[in-house]
Amino acid sequence: MIVSIYGKGGIGKSTTSSNIAIAMAKRGARVLQVGCDPKHDSTFTITKRMIPTLVEILEEHDYHHEEIEPSEVIFRGKMGVDAMESGGPAAGAGCGGYVTGEAVKFLRDHKLMDEYDVVIFDVLGDVVCGGFATPLNHSDFACVVTANDFDSLFAANRICAAVMAKAKNYPIYIAGLIVNRCPDTDHVERYCDRTGARIVGHVPQIDEIRRSRLAGVSIFEMKRIGGIALAQDRYLEIADYLLSEPEALKVKPLTDREVFEHLRSE
Ligand code: ADP
Ligand code: MG
Repeated sequence: MIVSIYGKGGIGKSTTSSNIAIAMAKRGARVLQVGCDPKHDSTFTITKRMIPTLVEILEEHDYHHEEIEPSEVIFRGKMGVDAMESGGPAAGAGCGGYVTGEAVKFLRDHKLMDEYDVVIFDVLGDVVCGGFATPLNHSDFACVVTANDFDSLFAANRICAAVMAKAKNYPIYIAGLIVNRCPDTDHVERYCDRTGARIVGHVPQIDEIRRSRLAGVSIFEMKRIGGIALAQDRYLEIADYLLSEPEALKVKPLTDREVFEHLRSE
């Protein structure tokens, strides 16, 4: 199963992806998480270090792809979860989306995606660029991380539109929205009622999640008390739902202006 996680910048894609990856491994799945953000900060809570990126290894090999061994870019992390980071060009130089395309190509050329029960692509929110959309060509389904606010729902809607456009040519579908870092879900529900999307999980704002990132660990390595237990349970619920091969949603995304009108009309 191949799943792509999208969402607005800073909304919690990497936090959610990496905790779900560990949760799926706890259920017995062989999981690979692929960070597709030039920031290369998707997987450090899995590997407890910032692993070398595909771009760095490509540079070492003078951009001779065929020389690169999977063991140079894929690293074993906690609970047996494997991790890879595409990396990207230096800030302000080059195209990050191109590098995402290279990461997908590398995995495809080495037939690596078949070696896992689950591959999670953690992709930065802007799928306007074709490169960042390439994980969708190989994914079974996409999930979008959003909060209960205008900006992340506005971005989520645009991502849903991109996925539904891809679905004309690829067997990709939308599994649903993961609501993160907010107490309520009413605006997300209103969006779902209008478009056919659905909420597949809700992780409230939990300070221990923030602290887990600072400590460089997943939430599953923290003592199961208070908010930690709640967070673990929510991530396990989402993992179980995704592992059950969720139904394909027929989402009818709105235009940008329709989102604006819909969300502001109380
Ligand atoms: P993205 O990958 O979408 O850019 P991150 O996963 O890096 O976002 O999350 C941004 C920050 O938000 C992280 O520092 C993390 O600590 C915090 N965060 C994410 N989800 C939660 C949550 N449910 N509760 C508290 N803090 C969170
Ligand atoms: Mg991220």
